[in-house]
This record gives sequence, C-alpha cells and structure tokens, in this order.
Amino acid sequence: MHEDTGLPARYLDERGRIDVARLKADTSIAEIAAKATDLKACGSELKGLCPLHPEDTASFCIHEGKQVYHCHGCAAGGDVIDLYQRLRHVDFRQACLDLAGTEHSAPPRREDPALPAVRRAESVRRARRLWREATLIGWSLTETYLTNRGLGHDVPGSIRHSHVPRWWHDDGHEGPREPAMLAALQDRDGRVCGIQRTFLDGEGRKSRRGNPRLSLGRTRGCAVRLGPVSDTIMLTASVEDGLAVRLMFPGASVWAAVGDGNLPHVHFPGVVRRVIVCGDADQPGRIAADAAVEAYLRQGLAAEDLPPRAGKDFNEEWLLLHA
Ligand SMILES: [Zn+2]
Repeated sequence: MHEDTGLPARYLDERGRIDVARLKADTSIAEIAAKATDLKACGSELKGLCPLHPEDTASFCIHEGKQVYHCHGCAAGGDVIDLYQRLRHVDFRQACLDLAGTEHSAPPRREDPALPAVRRAESVRRARRLWREATLIGWSLTETYLTNRGLGHDVPGSIRHSHVPRWWHDDGHEGPREPAMLAALQDRDGRVCGIQRTFLDGEGRKSRRGNPRLSLGRTRGCAVRLGPVSDTIMLTASVEDGLAVRLMFPGASVWAAVGDGNLPHVHFPGVVRRVIVCGDADQPGRIAADAAVEAYLRQGLAAEDLPPRAGKDFNEEWLLLHA
C-alpha cells in the first residue's frame, strides 16, 4: 500500500499518482452496473433500467468494448469510475480506492435493498404531480402533433399537454422542461399510477433530441383509458393507434398499452369481459398481439386479434383509408 493514496502499488504510476488507465482496465463496468440494475444483452450493448434516475423503460446502456455507460433518459454517461461515484455517492479518490479493492478483497457494499421500492414510489408520486400540473390540449403543440397525424379531433381527457423534464437526480436537480404530450396510465382501479411523456419540438413533431418517449411511474398492468370502463375494450399498443381506432370505431371503448411489451399485461377491471387486441402489423406487433390474446384467454376473458388492414399500425391505416 502506498502511504498517501492508500491504493495498492499496482494502481500507482512511477510518480505515486493513481494509474487510472490500469484501474479501469482491471475493472468491469458491467459488473459494477449489475450490482445496481438488471442488465440484458441488446446488440453490442447491455441494457437495463437506469440506476441513476427513476424510470420504467430501459434507457441505461453499457458498452463493454469501450467500458463506458450512457443513459438516454437522464443523459448521464462516463467510465466505470464516474458510474461508481454516482452509484455510491463518493468522490473520485474513494471510488478508486473501492474499485482497487474489488479485485482482491470485498466487493463494493451493496445498495440498500429498500432503495428500488423507494425510487418506484417516488416516481409514481412525481408522475401524479406532473399529471395534475398538465393542461387540456387546447391549441398546444400536442394538438398540432395529433392534428398532423389525423388525430386532432375529440381527444379524450386522458391526454394532456405540459412542459416536463426528462430526468431528475436524488438531490432534486432536474433536467430542462420540454413540451410534451402526456398520457395518463391508470391501474385496474382507475388510479393514475404513471404517465407517458412524448417529447415534442417547437413545430409539434416528435423530438429528435434523445428518446422522444419516456414513461414515469408504473406502466406494468396499467393502460391509457381513451374510453370508459366497458364490457368490451379495444386495446392498442400505442396512444396514437388508440386514438385512430377510436375514430374508426365510434362508440367503442379503446384503451392503449404503452408499447408492444405491455400489450399482454393490462389488468382489466372485473366488468371487462372481452378484449379486442389491435396490435401493429409488423413482426414484433404480431408476436405481442398473439401473446396478448393468449394471456387474456387464460384469464377467462373473450379475446381476439384485429390487425390493421393497411399500413404498419392503426394510425397509418387511419391516414391511408379513412382520414
Ligand atoms: Zn438515467
């Protein structure tokens, strides 16, 4: 051990300074990240829920080749030392000391096991607060966005407009507010438990700065209710498709899951007896629709699949055949 730094000699250069390159070469960023979040392989990267900001869709990526991380949600990014500093709330020197120790002795202390639950509860509270602050769409950028997709009339109250941040940190620091369409995610009992944010640019198009779609709070089991509770629900994989189906089938009650992945997982209230699954036409959409029909049949509901007749989804069918 070196007297001044407390680091093993292996991680000191000839002048007694921290040999950052060597320390980084000896430390796996994936291993450190995996202590804080579940990672799945995704192309050449590993992906998971960001351990640095509350979210329900995975925006956190590890590039093992480059040994760096990046979060598309909160824009955090850097090397393993930076990640460790943020995860453990320690300074650079302490991070180096801890990481230098991982190879030979104890792994870094584990996250408080209660923390994920606390973060989830906090993200639901935040989602509800943002939802309460949002306004009816009026003549907003959300109205422009929907009008450009042929969906601007008779928009239900579960869609609102607001200016919201993309990310927050534990210290309360938040990202800049950007215009966004908000959709309320309601649970089985009708409580708003999350929101989906679709970020818009100044012309009312989907924002091209980072991921335009982020959800906050709970998504699993929840749906955007574009119509009332009814014995038959038409279920789509996106809010836009839902608005299109609503215009194509006046009087039908349409709900939207947020993404193919959620299509089979909506918890319907007991009144619902029949689900018409309106998934996308592409391959992931077809797989999700099949899984959804199967899941709802297993729950004792009547379930059937209604694919779009034209285009890759119902918003396209609406624009091609009806609008
Ligand atoms: Zn993040």
